[in-house]
Amino acid sequence: MRQCLISPEKGYYTRQNAGHDQFGVKGDFVTSPEISQVFGELVGIWLYTEWLAQGQKDKIQIIEVGPGRGTLMDDVLRTISTFKSFAKSIDAVYLVEASPYLQEHQAKLLSSTGKLNALETGNPIQFTSPSKHIPGSEIKWCEDIKFLSYEETSTPFIIAHEFFDALPIHVFQNTASSSIPASSTILTPTGPIKPKSGPQTPKNQWHEFVVSPIQPPDPEDVTSSKTEDKEREEFHLTVSKSPTPHSLYLPQTSPRYKALESTPNAIIEISPESLTYASDFATRIGGSNPTSTSTPSTSPSAFPSTSSKSTPKSSTTPYKKPTPSGCALILDYGPLHTIPTNTLRGIRSHRPCSPFTSPGLVDLSADVDFVALAESALNASPGVEVHGPVEQDYFLSSLGIKERAERLVSRAGDEETRKRLEGGWKRLVDRGPTGMGRIYKAMAIVPYVGRSGEVRRPVGFGGRVVG
Ligand code: SAH
Repeated sequence: MRQCLISPEKGYYTRQNAGHDQFGVKGDFVTSPEISQVFGELVGIWLYTEWLAQGQKDKIQIIEVGPGRGTLMDDVLRTISTFKSFAKSIDAVYLVEASPYLQEHQAKLLSSTGKLNALETGNPIQFTSPSKHIPGSEIKWCEDIKFLSYEETSTPFIIAHEFFDALPIHVFQNTASSSIPASSTILTPTGPIKPKSGPQTPKNQWHEFVVSPIQPPDPEDVTSSKTEDKEREEFHLTVSKSPTPHSLYLPQTSPRYKALESTPNAIIEISPESLTYASDFATRIGGSNPTSTSTPSTSPSAFPSTSSKSTPKSSTTPYKKPTPSGCALILDYGPLHTIPTNTLRGIRSHRPCSPFTSPGLVDLSADVDFVALAESALNASPGVEVHGPVEQDYFLSSLGIKERAERLVSRAGDEETRKRLEGGWKRLVDRGPTGMGRIYKAMAIVPYVGRSGEVRRPVGFGGRVVG
């Protein structure tokens, strides 16, 4: 998944798309900020409510992971700029983006110069540019959040919209003991190894689905039709016969997976990179948990480098934060409570398609496991609490989407704009079986305040504006 989406040159997001944009009506998919400006405005207002509730701190870092074309951040910053004292408290805006092509796009929209200024090689921040909306503050780009340094005194306000669904998953199936032949090898990236304990005694076992190439059809075979040839899948999923390092480790990392050990054929999806991001968010907000061991990490270090890309801090370095501060808002699609199953999909020209055709030309995504992200965040930091997930309809309606949209509609200059505005906001909260209001969810990571006996629910998660 990672190779198909962000490998340099040929990844779906990273390739230079001559004349083809991934986003929008003419592209492959449309996201909420591209549907209606109200979406980003309400996210900006949500950040403002957190800023008020947390005592109007200064040194705010606005961080977005996977900003796409930059539309969401444009609406967020434009909204924030109307709250003068909040805007003044912003130190810098950070965009975590793997695609050089999209980084350029973001600079065009968000910077007052429209250009990326490259920093010297080795600097964890690749580019900077002055913000168009927040005078005096810089926009800074890097390709992974681990390159953003942790600062004890800064307050990160993090947004992740349709980011987690693009992070790679591993898929496992629970195979009944009766169907498992005793195996004496484990497949590793460098070849099979023999476990010291000898052949494994068959019991229910998690087996990983692996992507394997499909043999091309025999050109002599007259039964294969031309159309099938054009859309032919080049890869498919097969169940690995032997355990893999991931199948031995990842399903052991949560009681939710363990509870399925006695259910033959259960399928679970786990995205270790997503869990690393969630634990990073929590650590930035609440400080690290010195006793945490359960969050699997795929990055070389759970802690970012402050000096250079090649010398990350040790993952055992504790990050103490005297007072937890900041927040993370995660908006994406996935089930409210259950573990995603069979959700890897391809999207091309607004239609679902096989994820195994045309690698690098098809968008790939998988449902987000919100409860797994919450678990990872809570394990990573004793200084945070998690609210949600709640359905997008509930979140946006609590923030006043109807009222805001109606104001815009009443000011629309012509019938076409009025129709677009009305159709847009209603689509975001649509509660039909496949409506965005129901399928998309919102989840928030905020500082833990329970110790002082108070409970504060953020706005959009059952709370009201305070501060
Ligand atoms: N948030 C935007 C775009 C979502 S598409 C919107 O809602 O419109 C996913 C975005 O995440 C793209 O910008 C893509 O380039 C970026 N991305 C995907 N995988 C990434 C990774 N592993 N690291 C950093 N950015 C990534």
